[in-house]
Amino acid sequence: MSGWTGRKLVLVVVDSLRTDMLERCVAGGLAPVFGALAERGDLVRDCVSTFPSVTPVATSEMTTGARPDLHAISGVNWFHRVERRYVEYGSSFEATRTLGLIRTLYDIVYDMNMSHLSPEVTTVFERLGDAGVRTACTPFLIFRGRRRHELGLEGLLRRVALAASFRHAVWGPDELFYGELYASRRVPCKPTLARPGTRDPYSACVGRELAREGLYDFLLFSLPDNDHHSHRYGPEETADSIVRADACLGELIDAAGGMDRFCEEHAVIVCADHAQTNVGEELRIIDAFAERWRVLRPSTERYGEADVAVSPSARAAAIYVLADGVRGRRVHDGARQLLASLDGVDLSAWLADAEGNPLLRSDTRPATEAAEAVVERGGRQLRFRPGAGTADRRGARWDLDGDLGVLDGRLEGNATFVSDRYPDALARLWAALMAPNAGDVLVSLADGYECVDWGGASHVGGGSHGSLTAEDSLGPLLAVGLDGFDGRARAQWSIGDVAGLVDQHFSTGTEEAQDVRALARAG
Ligand SMILES: [Zn+2]
Repeated sequence: MSGWTGRKLVLVVVDSLRTDMLERCVAGGLAPVFGALAERGDLVRDCVSTFPSVTPVATSEMTTGARPDLHAISGVNWFHRVERRYVEYGSSFEATRTLGLIRTLYDIVYDMNMSHLSPEVTTVFERLGDAGVRTACTPFLIFRGRRRHELGLEGLLRRVALAASFRHAVWGPDELFYGELYASRRVPCKPTLARPGTRDPYSACVGRELAREGLYDFLLFSLPDNDHHSHRYGPEETADSIVRADACLGELIDAAGGMDRFCEEHAVIVCADHAQTNVGEELRIIDAFAERWRVLRPSTERYGEADVAVSPSARAAAIYVLADGVRGRRVHDGARQLLASLDGVDLSAWLADAEGNPLLRSDTRPATEAAEAVVERGGRQLRFRPGAGTADRRGARWDLDGDLGVLDGRLEGNATFVSDRYPDALARLWAALMAPNAGDVLVSLADGYECVDWGGASHVGGGSHGSLTAEDSLGPLLAVGLDGFDGRARAQWSIGDVAGLVDQHFSTGTEEAQDVRALARAG
């Protein structure tokens, strides 16, 4: 039974949706559903993603409101220091094969939510569940909630999961649909998790059933297919996939009684996890490191012999120094020098201790020992740390030391740090570096470049994302019927604000809701 009597809320996440492409499709009459919502709503054009601007990191931030320093998901590939292995969330089919199909399935489906996403943070599904709000989602990377769901196997993934003895139950929203693996009820929809281009229609089908039966107060309606289309053909060629996403959202709205009735009964948020930019050059970052050091391979057990682990995350990368002591410091120095010399590296960043020396995590020093962060571009450096000095556009304060030009930054009104090229750069870099699973050195790639992943694959000739730049990072945030929402209320919106907007809508932060939560825990 639902205790919620107010307006329902649908959060629509269109993977890799660029604001200019959304506007172009709406203006051309190609996306009538998004158009009708935009007419009734308030569109923020430049909502900023996280760093690296890739889906696992961004959707974790969107659903928890926390940044990677707290939610702990650091990339699409990252090195697990405790388990001494790479975690891979499916950079490409080739990468999945290299890292192991079964291992990757565990990482994406089970570990990402149940183990990697920090238990110290809560998702909107968990918070709303505690407050007695009925939650639902169509397939989305982050789904951790308060209801247990047994594995229910159908279709193609059945054999793989059985071979892997994958029988794990997960905790998700009240209504969880995750392709072939989890479905909280029987729906006449064909799950096709692994096949791009068919996932939006699956969301639409599930959404129709949920709307008809009135099964949610909060629905995360995920439309992932645009990402694949944009990777393949480039972000300027996404009109087709936006048109299809528009039609799929339209099916949900029709099932709820049409646009007018839908908007009477629902508030809506439409957003993207990140944007995309064209890529035409490969950066073979694993090979570049392997020419100089022993790089940990995914397939070998020889952890003790490796100097570095390299984690490509599309247009970003992380270098983990495995050697410790004097050798570790030499590797850290050499890694920074190598990165500075590589075509395709735009900037790199690392943490430093109170003496200004790079903080070496292999000396078992946690990020919290860091005194400052250093970001370097074109041989110039900027040092920064949270402090009492310069404000950024989101109101955080920083102590800055060095060349603001490193981040193309300027001081607006002599007081506010602004960078058009690297939006929200200081907070995004800081959170990425302070993350428990962060590399020792983080890299953001130059325009047009993408890292070749562990499977040897890239999206060169198409689109990609991951970097700190505006092109990869800024997407739309459209709010419709959301009480009190004012797009001008913030100088810089972030995808992390989405969780707060959801909380606010359901007043999950109010005392009353907290009482409900306390009762629920006690009971
Ligand atoms: Zn992508």
